[in-house]
Amino acid sequence: MSEEHVLICVAWPYANGPLHLGHVAGCYLPPDIQSRFERALGNKVLMVSGSDEHGTPITVAAETQGVSPQSVVDKYHEINKQALVKLGCSWEPNVDPRGVEFGGSLFNRTSDPEHHKIVSENFISLLDAGLFERKVMQQYYEVREDGGRFLPDRYVEGDCPNCNASGARGDQCDECGVTYEANELVNPKSKMNPDADIEIRDTEHLFYRLDLFQGPLEEHAESQQNVWKSNVKAMTKQWLDMGLRPRAVTRDLDWGIKLPMDGEEWDGKCVYVWFEAVQGYLSCAKIWSSQFAEEDDWEKWWKISDDGTKPRHLYFLGKDNIPFHTIIWPALIMGLNYANRENKENKSPSLPTNGDLNIEDNVPAMEYLMLAGGQFSKSRKHAVWLPSFLDRFDPDTLRYYLSINMPENHDTDFNWPDFVEKINSELIAAYGNFVHRILTLSDRFPEERPLSSFENLDYCQEEIQKISDLFEQATSSLRVHRYKEALRTVMSISQLGNQMIQSATPWKYLKDLDAEGAPESMAKLAFGWRISRTLSILLQPFLPFSSQRLWEYLGENGNVSQVDWSSSIDWGVEYKSPMSGVKPLFERLDLDEILKQEQSFAEENSESKTEDVTHNVKGGKKKLRGAEKMTEGLTFVDFETFMKTELKIGLITDVTDHENADKLFVVKIDDGSTDGRTICAGLKDYYDASQLVGKYVVFVSNLKPRKLRGVMSEGMMLAADDSNGNVKLITIDGEIETGSTVR
Ligand SMILES: [Zn+2]
Repeated sequence: MSEEHVLICVAWPYANGPLHLGHVAGCYLPPDIQSRFERALGNKVLMVSGSDEHGTPITVAAETQGVSPQSVVDKYHEINKQALVKLGCSWEPNVDPRGVEFGGSLFNRTSDPEHHKIVSENFISLLDAGLFERKVMQQYYEVREDGGRFLPDRYVEGDCPNCNASGARGDQCDECGVTYEANELVNPKSKMNPDADIEIRDTEHLFYRLDLFQGPLEEHAESQQNVWKSNVKAMTKQWLDMGLRPRAVTRDLDWGIKLPMDGEEWDGKCVYVWFEAVQGYLSCAKIWSSQFAEEDDWEKWWKISDDGTKPRHLYFLGKDNIPFHTIIWPALIMGLNYANRENKENKSPSLPTNGDLNIEDNVPAMEYLMLAGGQFSKSRKHAVWLPSFLDRFDPDTLRYYLSINMPENHDTDFNWPDFVEKINSELIAAYGNFVHRILTLSDRFPEERPLSSFENLDYCQEEIQKISDLFEQATSSLRVHRYKEALRTVMSISQLGNQMIQSATPWKYLKDLDAEGAPESMAKLAFGWRISRTLSILLQPFLPFSSQRLWEYLGENGNVSQVDWSSSIDWGVEYKSPMSGVKPLFERLDLDEILKQEQSFAEENSESKTEDVTHNVKGGKKKLRGAEKMTEGLTFVDFETFMKTELKIGLITDVTDHENADKLFVVKIDDGSTDGRTICAGLKDYYDASQLVGKYVVFVSNLKPRKLRGVMSEGMMLAADDSNGNVKLITIDGEIETGSTVR
C-alpha cells in the first residue's frame, strides 16, 4: 500500500449563481473520482476548494438583483456546497474516516476571516521581498456629484473597436474575441448607470513581478512536457511566448480583501480577486489543519521535506483557467518561497527545493461540456442547473453520464436522448441487470445447499485472468486521469460477467442441482458474486451511492469507499450470503417523460426572473479564441468544419521584433491583397528574422483577428512541432501566386 500525500485542488466556483452541469463535468466530478481512487490506493488525500466570493462577478450579480454582495454569496455558497455533497463529492465529512493523518477535505469560502488574514500576511511578505512594483494605469471613472467611482472592466460597455458590436466590455469583445486597451472602446458607458458621465482617470496600483519568474517557469514547463495534456502545454506555451509581465494585484473596488497598507492613496482599493482566490488552495489547507488536525499538519501536503520527498499536487479546472495554474499560481508560490528564504539578497526566484512549498505536478484540465451544441452558461435556457437536476435524478446516473462523456480531450455534448440512452442501455443493461441477475438467482437456492457450496475457482481461471488484466488497465488509466477510458474498462468487466452467465445458463440447473453440468454452471454463478464485488469496489470512485447499495446487497459490511483498491481482485475473500429480495440498482428512464418535464421546467423558469444571473467559473464566458481552437487535443471534425478553415499562401516580406512581447515576431505577409497583412508569431526561438524573409508560407486567412500586446494579428502561419524543441514552418514546393488557396 502506498501512503503518499496527495493534495487535490479543485477550482473555486464563483458564488454568484447555481452550478450547472458544465461546471460539474469540467471541474467538480473529476477531482472527486481522483480523490476516491487515491484513498482506495491507501494514499493520504487532502482535498481543498470553496466559494470564490469577491470581485466583480459577485458585485455585478448583486447590483443586478438589487441586493448586497454578502447576501448573494451567502445564498450561493450554501446552495452549491449542498449540491456538490448531494452529488456525492467528498466534502463531508471533513476528516478521513481512517483517521486525521489520512487527511480529509474542506470546502471553504474566500470571505473566511482566516483566509483574509493569510492573504494579507502573504501580501506583506511579497511586498517586503521586493516582488511588487508601483505603476499608474488608466481606468474609467464614473463622475457623480456624491464623489463618483472607478469602473472595473465589467462595469463598462460600449461598441467594439474591431467589429462595432454593441455591448462590448471594457477590455474585451465577446462577439469577436478581440481584446483592447480601455481607451479604445467606442461610446463607453457605465453599465449600471448608462446616463452618467464617464472619463478616463489615472489610478496607482501595485503589480506582481511575474516577469522575474519567466526563467523558472519555462524550465518547469519543459519538465512537464510528458505530463501535461496537449491543451495545457499549448496554452502555457502561448503565455510564455508572449513574455510575462507584471500583473496588477490591487484594484479600485470595495468588495474584496482590504489592502494591508497605510496611506490615503490606497483608499477605495482592495486586493485583486485573482491574487487572493488562487491562494485559497493554500489557506484552505492551513484552515483545515487548524480546525481538524494539528496546526502544522498542512505542511505535509504542501512542503517538500528536507529529504526531498514531495507531496503530489493535482489541480482540477476548466480549460479557460489553465494559465492561472501553470503560470500565475506557481509564480506566486515561488515568490512566497523566495520571500521566506534567508539571504535572498544573493539569489533570484527559482523552482521549489527542499523545505519549500511545492508547485503543481499535473493540471489535468478539461475541455467544455456543451448543451446540445451550445456552450453551457451562455443563457439560462441553455443551462441545466445541478441543484434542480439532483432533485429529479439519481446522482449516480449523472456521475455515470458525465464520466463516460467527459470532455477530456475535446468538447462533448449533453443532450437528453443521449443521457437516457446511455443510462438505459449501458449503465442498466450492462451493469445493473448483471448484478441483479446474480443476486436474484442466488436467492433461489435451498438453505441446506446455498450457492456458496458450489464455489469452485478452477472453472473460472479464464475469467480471473481477463479481469486481472482489465483491473491493471483501469488502474493505469486512472493514474493518468483518463476517466472515460477507466470507466469503459470497468464496464467491460460487467459485460464479461454477462457473457459468462449467459453461456453457463445456471437457471437450467436450479431444479436439479445434481444434473450433469451443474457443478460448472453453479461455480460460474457463484463467481458472479465475486465479479459483482469487484465491480462494487472499482465503480466506487465513479458511482459511490449505487456501489455502496451493491456492497450491502452482496452481504458485505462497512463502507465500500474504505475498501482497498486491490481487494477487488482478491479471490480469496470469504463468500458472503447476499441479501434477499433486493431492488434493481437503478430505475429505467423514460425520455418522453423527461422531455415533457424539461419543457414545463423551462417555461416556468423563463417566467421567473428571481435567479436571473449569469454564472461562470472564472472567465468561463469568454469565447474560445482562434489559437486555442487550433491547439486542442485529438478529435474528429466533420468535413464541413474543416472546410471552414481558409488556408492560403503568403510571402514573408518583413520581420521585426514585437516591441512588447519578448518571444514574438511581427511578420508582414504579402497575401495577394494590396495592403498585405500582419501576423504575430512565436518563432523567435527557432528562426532569425533574416531566415524568414522571402519564404512562402501557409497561413490561416480567416482566423478572427486579435490584438497581441498592442499589435493586431491577422491570422496564423502553420508550422510543425515535434515537442522536442524542433519547430519548422510549412513552406511550399516552388513558387505560386500569393493569396492562392490551399486545398
Ligand atoms: Zn468585436
